[in-house]
Amino acid sequence: MAKSKPVTVPVLLPLALPAPYDYVVPEGMEVAPGQFVVVPLATVEYLGVVWPRDETAEAPKLDPKKLREIIEVVDDVPPLPRVSLDFADWVARYTLTSPGMVLRMMMSAGRAFSPPALHYGVRLYGAAPSRMTPARARVLEVAANRMTWVKSALAEAAGVSPGVIDGLVDAGTLITEELPAWAPPRLDLSTARARLTPEQASAASEMLANVGDGFSVTLLDGVTGSGKTEVYFEAIAAALAKGKQALVLMPEIALTSHFIARCQERFGAKPAEWHSGLTAPMRGRVWRAVAENQAKLVVGARSALFLPFPDLGLIVVDEEHDAGYKQEERVTYQARDMAVVRGSLGAFPVVLSSATPSIESLVNAAQGRYRHIKLERRYKAARLPAIAAIDMRVSPPERGKWLSPVLVEAVAETLQRGEQALLFLNRRGYAPVTVCRNCGFKFECPNCSAWLVEHRFRRRLECHHCGTFVPIPEYCPNCGAEHSLVPCGPGIERIDEEVAALFPDARRVLLSSDLTPSVSDLRETLREIEDREVDIVIGTQLVAKGHHFPGLALVGVVDADLGLAHADPRAAERTFQLLNQVTGRAGRGAIPGRGLIQTYMPEHPVIQALALSDRDAFLAREIEARKAAMLPPFGRLASLLVSASARDAAESYARSLARAAPPAHKIEVLGPAEAPLAVIRGRFRFRLLVKATREADLQAYLRLWLSEAPKPKGDVRLNIDVDPYSFL
Ligand code: ADP
Ligand code: ZN
Repeated sequence: MAKSKPVTVPVLLPLALPAPYDYVVPEGMEVAPGQFVVVPLATVEYLGVVWPRDETAEAPKLDPKKLREIIEVVDDVPPLPRVSLDFADWVARYTLTSPGMVLRMMMSAGRAFSPPALHYGVRLYGAAPSRMTPARARVLEVAANRMTWVKSALAEAAGVSPGVIDGLVDAGTLITEELPAWAPPRLDLSTARARLTPEQASAASEMLANVGDGFSVTLLDGVTGSGKTEVYFEAIAAALAKGKQALVLMPEIALTSHFIARCQERFGAKPAEWHSGLTAPMRGRVWRAVAENQAKLVVGARSALFLPFPDLGLIVVDEEHDAGYKQEERVTYQARDMAVVRGSLGAFPVVLSSATPSIESLVNAAQGRYRHIKLERRYKAARLPAIAAIDMRVSPPERGKWLSPVLVEAVAETLQRGEQALLFLNRRGYAPVTVCRNCGFKFECPNCSAWLVEHRFRRRLECHHCGTFVPIPEYCPNCGAEHSLVPCGPGIERIDEEVAALFPDARRVLLSSDLTPSVSDLRETLREIEDREVDIVIGTQLVAKGHHFPGLALVGVVDADLGLAHADPRAAERTFQLLNQVTGRAGRGAIPGRGLIQTYMPEHPVIQALALSDRDAFLAREIEARKAAMLPPFGRLASLLVSASARDAAESYARSLARAAPPAHKIEVLGPAEAPLAVIRGRFRFRLLVKATREADLQAYLRLWLSEAPKPKGDVRLNIDVDPYSFL
């Protein structure tokens, strides 16, 4: 009997492979794109996804007889929706990464793929056991309320070993029961909503006009505290009312406790959360709940964009200007931009919200691609803080100190009135450089071109690039002098020390990502600040973002010039955004707020824009400058970073790459140049920058170039970053 030609399908594996591989569908098996399947590759079995056949690509030339068979279809995991497959292909093409690596992000919830574990609890049921011990008696006492307990929790509450519980189950005193499976909280759209101000109401109705009406992008541009959240809540409510799923992206998900509480008030339940702080089982549950269309409202970090939403109807990108939306490792994507792509593929609206929108989004709005909605007033009595610069040349701090007398005086006044102050310095640790007073030796990282930063609290010198650390030495390793090491410059711990000496009775809290490791600790500290259990907050950018501290009256920026020195086309824009955001924490309640900015360059346009509250003039200049230099968003950039453990190898590969660059009309290749951070983790770094006009097909150019260029050999690595945000 003649056998018919076997059916083959492409299967994408979550690996760095250039494309899906073909597999034979065994007779009797039915598969469709999006389904999870187990397939062999070499000697290993992998979980992969049946991929749509790319009709534009050449048919595979492989002999089907040589192809291997799909082992099984995993049918208890919901298949990836078609839009997720298209999105993965889109992101891979745009970022020049392998689609498998994007799929890997989509599958980064390992537990979702094993059957959900059944959880059992125990409950008091039968008569007391014939043999009674003190341990058993304690268990019976704790379990007397007839609640169902998780076994380990009951053992802990009674202070006994789990064996004691097992014994009571065997004796028939306790009974084992299946615990209900986790389900995402059920939302309630009938909860009372805020009464919007006329300004908010008109913004909301303009925004609502788009929900359910296909793809659109709205830039919600409102001063800090104007009620942007209230306004986009209306859009979320509208999407949910249509039965759609909604996603809110936040740049720093650990900090969203206030937002979650507000969701709970507005929608009657907490949203599902997606971020790196989730436990593995919780990740699995949330992933499944999203895939099964059970989780309707999700708040997440940038990676939530890759969750398998089957029926997404809205994405809100909060603080859309935040650089945290750019992922720098593996797949280098900009989540704000990819959210817009996801909206376009899913034909739904996307809302970008910020008090200081990115130049990219402002230009898109000005050119009519995005709708621009503005909120110019703070809610109710709250006024925008009055901002002033402190000229450090005129009012310098005492020797070896960092706070100007003007700022110290302002903090003292604030405390006297019983209000809160916040001091901001975007630098972790105690001092950025440590020097030997005797010989001038500076502590440098052995693996990176960077100084070691003193962390006094943890008693060590640390590299902020590779994490190397050494205990703070007692002798200079260079000249042997004793007690000769002096810290140079301030970090946030040093500011804390200065404040402690100035205001010994004030209740202080120091917030820095290295000192507040867990999400729950951080949330607790933020609650203490909100409830005014703290007088002075001293912090890094961890305190700058999105918080609502009603008692905060004064924000002092210790060093406004810090970000302006960077060789980065966005340095001025970013500094403006950060300082606007941090000073915007002041005066959000009934108390008037003010911001004081310490600077040695009070005439700098960024400082002027902040002090004069003249955002528009600053932005207009910045936009002109970008246009003149053909920088984003008027031109496009890609960075090709070559690194190797030998300097020569990195440099010569970078040069050969440059030589292989095909000539092109609207595309220019700059470099290679040694990167400003010339060495990281012992690897020497050279960068090529590709500059293109908006019309040029940058990705097609890069693909052509890389297909013809020599491949990196040995330990030479090439990292491609389309639309780079980091130039170090
Ligand atoms: P933004 O996101 O623009 O910084 P928020 O939405 O966080 O502003 O609003 C600032 C504060 O004002 C919040 O505490 C919020 O609850 C309150 N608020 C804003 N609009 C309203 C409103 N219409 N009714 C009640 N409270 C509001
Ligand atoms: Zn290092």
